[in-house]
Amino acid sequence: MGIKNHNGNLFSADNVYRILINEKYIGIYRHGDEIHTDTYPQIVPTEIFEIVASKIANNKYGKHKPDVYYLLKHKIFCGYCSNPIQSASGTSKNGEVKRYYRCSGKVNHKKCSFIPKRKDILEELVIDTIYEALNESNINYITERILESHKKQNRNYSTLNLLIDEQKEVSSQINNIMKAIEKGIITETTKSRLEELEKKKIDLQIKIEYEQSQDRLAITENDIKYYLLSALKKAPRLMIDALINKIILYNDKAEIYLKYTNHKSPDDNEDHQDFLFYVTSRSYEIDKKSFGGKIYINSYKVSFWI
Ligand SMILES: [Zn+2]
Repeated sequence: MGIKNHNGNLFSADNVYRILINEKYIGIYRHGDEIHTDTYPQIVPTEIFEIVASKIANNKYGKHKPDVYYLLKHKIFCGYCSNPIQSASGTSKNGEVKRYYRCSGKVNHKKCSFIPKRKDILEELVIDTIYEALNESNINYITERILESHKKQNRNYSTLNLLIDEQKEVSSQINNIMKAIEKGIITETTKSRLEELEKKKIDLQIKIEYEQSQDRLAITENDIKYYLLSALKKAPRLMIDALINKIILYNDKAEIYLKYTNHKSPDDNEDHQDFLFYVTSRSYEIDKKSFGGKIYINSYKVSFWI
């Protein structure tokens, strides 16, 4: 009795362990630096996965080193020198471990004016802003912007565009022949050329309609909205992976950029204006050694760009 594994044997503790530590079971597939969340279905709830991960980490390092994951890793960059912001920690005299995000440019060249930011406070600030910016009344608007940007990108490179151009060209050639006919210039050549062009125009129309139907199949407003809403329900680490493209940090402000909109498109010559969607102001506490302790910034500005 009981549930058997793929070898026909009963599940052992080891089988269960392997399932609980494999990211594939929470729907994550990594390929190099890319993370795909749509390749595998999620079988193990994220909350359970994270509890197990933290228990394993605790066992590994003993009770003094709990599982620490820097949620914003690989997503944050310094606003002053553009270098990645990296994780750091230090132990104070009373033995308390303090965790930070600091500029890697400062570590390497010591030239940057970025002041390290407290890990827990910064992460909370980012997460809160994401929830606020993507609230129920904003989500439709964000969906529209993503769809718009998706269509625009597709239109630039698609076969559809080429076909439409070709059809315009054929139509203008037909018009020229029609003008010639109106002026009484009719030869066998013009007649057969006209027939040829009319046939080509119909062929192109069929191809255009086919491409347009493909375009409609590609992605819908509902798909996007569903993706955004389910990303918001995920654990913070997965939510940030799914939604956030990058975060630019300064000493007095942070800029959070949503994925899937046109922040950068190297193949596109058009001027892409990042769209400032939402700004909030929060107080932020930093430890600044030269001041001999904590300082508070009361209006740490956090903006959300789509
Ligand atoms: Zn820097």
